Amino acid sequence: MHDPTSDDPEGMTIRERSQHSGPAPAGTASAGRSGLGAEEPLVDRLGRGLDDLRISVIDRCNYRCTFCMPADRDYQFLPREELLTFEEIARLAGLFVGLGVHKIRLTGGEPLLRKDLPALVEMLASIDGVEDLALTTNGVLLERMAEPLAAAGLRRVTVSLESLRDDRYGAINGVGHPVAPILRGIEAAQRAGLEPVKVNVVVQRGVNDDEVVDLARELGRRRCVVRFIEFMDVGTLNDWGEAKVLSAREIVQRVAAGLPLTPRARRRASDTALRHEYLGGTPDGPPAGLEVGAIASITEPFCGDCTRARLTSEGALHTCLFSHAGLDLKAPLRGGATDAQIERLIADRWRRRADRYSEERAERMASGSRVAEPKIEMYRIGG
Ligand code: SAM
Ligand code: SF4
Ligand code: SF4
Repeated sequence: MHDPTSDDPEGMTIRERSQHSGPAPAGTASAGRSGLGAEEPLVDRLGRGLDDLRISVIDRCNYRCTFCMPADRDYQFLPREELLTFEEIARLAGLFVGLGVHKIRLTGGEPLLRKDLPALVEMLASIDGVEDLALTTNGVLLERMAEPLAAAGLRRVTVSLESLRDDRYGAINGVGHPVAPILRGIEAAQRAGLEPVKVNVVVQRGVNDDEVVDLARELGRRRCVVRFIEFMDVGTLNDWGEAKVLSAREIVQRVAAGLPLTPRARRRASDTALRHEYLGGTPDGPPAGLEVGAIASITEPFCGDCTRARLTSEGALHTCLFSHAGLDLKAPLRGGATDAQIERLIADRWRRRADRYSEERAERMASGSRVAEPKIEMYRIGG
């Protein structure tokens, strides 16, 4: 077993195997500074703008979560020279911002394994038009990285944590890593001003569904905004099945049975992040007004609001978490293409976009049909 606290991905034993984090605000993407013409808004075939960008900075991970990269497989990682450099990432990010992107989130693999990540954060934070710069991490290296990341311009952090019990957490993360360092990482992020810290909890029936109230109480007590996430059929390795999905509505009901909640107004009719807030009054529990939510990616998909592009660590643009084929941007980048040429490639791809995988899955589930489709693995595209 490798040491998950090592921040040298090259030094790891290479035995390898989205969140959605909720819908993005309704798209008002415009061609902005892109030179494509303000009268020519960039929307896809379903009328969705391009508002946010997830950038995977590395495909490696120090965990082997059962729902993402199960430990019983060997994985091939990209050689270092195939990863986009920070300069390449920043150049592409600037072009995406010119096409309408306001929000950037760094992910992976485990993004904190990427050497000198604060240097990239600084480059991205300095791009005019980036209103939100966030990071999703398993938290293993957060205790020491929170301060330098915040100093470099990171605004927010989301930590993934599926259990508060060491034995269970160690089994889920696949490498036996305990809970306490993750909680210390969250505290370090709070001290660094990256508040409110969000915590993603993938809920699997029969695995950690009995812990949702405990997680909500303890993490809420620590002022974290918890986002419970329905177990998704990302990638091809996690042995997904409907029977393992606890619906977002059921998750919320269970939390509400232990901790009084009130629904928050939906930002849009189609908003399927079931957002609630605590009423408070529970001794040693979450403060009144703190948000808690559940993401219904499976049971109430929200493709109609999806304004998110994804860039893999090797420079492929994916327009859906579940897509297989990405558009290679590294070749033109390294082949001397101009900004205008690359921008045109991105814009053309976005205009042709018609992805609505989760809605199609729901339709298939409703009709009882099963079609296995090729999909990119989650650790490669980033959640
Ligand atoms: N390694 C980082 C982490 O775990 O936070 C960032 C990458 S991870 C792929 C991004 C998010 O995807 C995490 O919050 C993780 O829990 C979530 N995720 C991975 N597999 C999932 C699945 N099968 N269903 C739902 N969410 C999943
Ligand atoms: Fe690694 Fe994140 Fe996937 Fe877990 S969910 S294996 S921490 S990339
Ligand atoms: Fe998820 Fe793809 Fe639907 Fe977007 S289009 S919400 S990434 S399934």
